[in-house]
Amino acid sequence: MSGIVGYIGRHSAQSILLDCLKKLDYRGYDSAGIAVSDLKKIDIRREKGRVEDLEASLQLEPIRPGCLGIGHTRWASHGTPTVSNSHPLSDEEGRFYVVHNGIIENYQQLKKFLISEGHHFQTDTDTEVIPHLLAHFDTGNFEETVRKVIPQLKGAFALALMSTAHPNQIIAVSYDNPLIIGFGQGEAYLSSDIPALLPYTKETYPIKNGEIAILTQTNVEVKTLAGEKIVPEKVTIRWNHDELSLQTYEHFMLKEITEQPEAIKRTLKGRLIESGVAIPEVEAFLEERKLSRFEKITIVGSGTSHHSGMIGKKILETMLDIPVEAAISSEFSFEHGHLNDQQLVIALSQSGETADTISALKEAKKYGAPTIAITNYRKSTLARKSDCLVYTHAGPELAVPATKAYTAQITALILLSIVLTEKTNGPGRKMVPVLLDALHSLADDVEKCLIMTQDAIDQFAQVTNDQEHLFLIGRGLDYVLALEGALKLQEVAYLHADAYAAGEMKHGTMALITPGIPVIALATQQHLRDKAINNIKEIKARDAYVVGITTTGDDEVSAVVDEVLYIPEAHPFLMPILAAIPLQLLAYYAGKVRGYNVDRPRNLAKSLTVE
Ligand code: GLU
Repeated sequence: MSGIVGYIGRHSAQSILLDCLKKLDYRGYDSAGIAVSDLKKIDIRREKGRVEDLEASLQLEPIRPGCLGIGHTRWASHGTPTVSNSHPLSDEEGRFYVVHNGIIENYQQLKKFLISEGHHFQTDTDTEVIPHLLAHFDTGNFEETVRKVIPQLKGAFALALMSTAHPNQIIAVSYDNPLIIGFGQGEAYLSSDIPALLPYTKETYPIKNGEIAILTQTNVEVKTLAGEKIVPEKVTIRWNHDELSLQTYEHFMLKEITEQPEAIKRTLKGRLIESGVAIPEVEAFLEERKLSRFEKITIVGSGTSHHSGMIGKKILETMLDIPVEAAISSEFSFEHGHLNDQQLVIALSQSGETADTISALKEAKKYGAPTIAITNYRKSTLARKSDCLVYTHAGPELAVPATKAYTAQITALILLSIVLTEKTNGPGRKMVPVLLDALHSLADDVEKCLIMTQDAIDQFAQVTNDQEHLFLIGRGLDYVLALEGALKLQEVAYLHADAYAAGEMKHGTMALITPGIPVIALATQQHLRDKAINNIKEIKARDAYVVGITTTGDDEVSAVVDEVLYIPEAHPFLMPILAAIPLQLLAYYAGKVRGYNVDRPRNLAKSLTVE
């Protein structure tokens, strides 16, 4: 979602800020702006739309050049996406400029107080209270003023701040919302996400909660809010530039779908060993906390991560024979059942910055529940706040729709379920050898899926061009897969796609089945196949156009559908990974044929850092 960037050095801040904002383009946003200082005065420019619109406006009517500044792409949470609501926002006298990611939860109380003190507001945003508070509590010392204001703010936020009275400084704050300092030679950068920094530096420091960073031309200082100096422990980024470019692909989404065999190999690497599965960090965590069994496991996640969680639920339940719940993060944070220190909470988020999932993790910790995070970013907030991290190694995922992060998450969940089964002596121990064999050929099977389904899916996607509705059905793990397929089609192709447990259609939704309506029927779970075939027949009897997805050579499914797509047969736990491939491809090609920007769907953002 929204992005923050900052630069201080000897070069043109404007061009570096614009370049960095473009690198964050994939996150999704609806307006952009920059503030640049020439060490005497701060100039700002904001535009609705894309960074390119901001760039065009700056070309047409340049602002004064400067060598430090801050920039923002806004994903509106409070107030419509207009120029006046765009960041940088300032107080009425233009004393302070602020770019902000996240939400100030107590902004209404603060705004009421500031209005009663004579401040005039010009926007509908929550953010605007910040420059007003800075102006109101201004002591004449920028850093001191910031330290006075930050404790008054509630919520999760990352901020980059400038002061007209101190036009040679940028102050950065991060509170449960990421902001990273990049260190260059005689220059420094700020970004809410790594890709913007990579062309400039790999030496970074993610600002922690309760810290502020003061950037000047000659120095970067990190301090606690109380003013104590901190020596920032630098982190070297290992990603390379190629991973962040399209190479020969037209879209990141297709590139990332195609990268799945490699992503899965990396997630398995060093963990799937000859004698079984080793995740030393999980083993150490269980031993340290003396955890030999759990009363219950809850897996929290949002969107696609919730679907991975639903798959994890079925696998863990079978392997451990204990209650396992898959909860939606934004629900769990506020309403959940009994929780205690005998219950494990597993938090899933690609970015590790999903605000809803961070809240859910905090809630679990409040009750002393041991926590494991599964994320694709080692230094993310979720990774830092959980007791144990299982890193997914999927590589950077830049398209907004999650693809390789999803299959890597399920792979990690399967590895985790094997370790937990063995460490807690779960009844699934007898299934482990077969599962291990299947995991050894998983990456190859995914590769085969890509080859077997790509062309057929491309053709079928053409059919969706003049459709508004599509249904997906399945039983058991196939039902979860149907939910994920529907989500992808909604996100990317703006198609009203709905998923149903196959046996449920006749209890209501069947009324919506009209001749020719496309239905995707998943039948990859052998033990549920016969029942699934009955449900397909019921739908075919109403003349729907049914595409079946089943395992190679399944003639019984192919006999009852209009079109069949075969995928390799693997262990039932792995089928949600294999069958995800044609569904991801379908969303991609359908989005393309319907003329949408598949990497950046409307109204959506990568890594949702607001609740
Ligand atoms: N809450 C702020 C706004 O709506 C910032 C949203 C964002 O993270 O971009 O302006």
